Amino acid sequence: MQGTTLKGKTALVTGSTSGIGLGMARILAAQGSNIVFNGFGDAQEIAKLQADVAQKFDVKTTYHNADMSKPAEIEAMMRAAAEQFGGVDILINNAGIQHVANIEDFPVEKWNAIIAINLTSAFHTTRLVLPNMKAKNWGRIINIASVHGLVGSAQKSAYVAAKHGIVGFTKVTALETAHSGVTCNAICPGWVLTPLVQKQVDARAAQENISIETAKKNLVAEKQPSGEFVTPEQLGALAVFLCSDAASQVRGAAWNMDGGWVAQ
Ligand code: NAD
Repeated sequence: MQGTTLKGKTALVTGSTSGIGLGMARILAAQGSNIVFNGFGDAQEIAKLQADVAQKFDVKTTYHNADMSKPAEIEAMMRAAAEQFGGVDILINNAGIQHVANIEDFPVEKWNAIIAINLTSAFHTTRLVLPNMKAKNWGRIINIASVHGLVGSAQKSAYVAAKHGIVGFTKVTALETAHSGVTCNAICPGWVLTPLVQKQVDARAAQENISIETAKKNLVAEKQPSGEFVTPEQLGALAVFLCSDAASQVRGAAWNMDGGWVAQ
């Protein structure tokens, strides 16, 4: 899906060096948006990825290595984006981590990191982009929540708490911007086969002494009636729709794309 619907816009996608964020960055660039990449990874690979996207879609790209658990680094990234592109028009709060354990065994530092990265970072990016979006009377904030923003799963206490939190934060952001050209919505994916989920597949294969392929199938079948993974490209297409004029009255939604997970 290539076009010019976002030409001249700048999108900042947190956690865009991998998985869903990278898919989002690519699809927004394919619509003509400049991209601010963020996330961890090998510096050379990130530079290559940035150059590939810039060349393939004829857009400008930049990268900031802000650690999304550190407010001062988030502030530096938002300042750099504003200096380079005159502000961020599309903010995709996507960076996230997972840890799986029962509550009584859940490491306190993992709880704090998940809340900081999956929830609090979105408060910081949002508070820092809103003045410019409001001044331009146009903006799109898309929070990558999860089906875990709508329902729970055992052993994912911090993740489920953070994702329910971000769905609530989405609603408040949408209400505070309701009289403007700025919208805020959440996308709630089911299983997407990214490095974050691959770790859970590998753990399951080891625990149950089954092949990776069987572990993958079992993992999806357990929760997702379609039996198929959602793809980053499908999620990106939904984000492009949410950026369009047709979606200007979609406000405060938590839109699941989950193969039927929360319909059960
Ligand atoms: P991923 O592990 O492939 O990518 C995560 C990205 O976040 C990477 O770019 C990583 O470098 C970055 N990141 C992690 N910690 C960071 C930090 N402290 N500072 C800056 N960047 C950091 O994972 P993914 O599956 O693509 O997940 C992306 C988002 O989608 C997450 O918020 C996740 O909760 C959500 N999500 C994923 C699934 C799924 O099935 N994969 C389902 C629902 C929601």
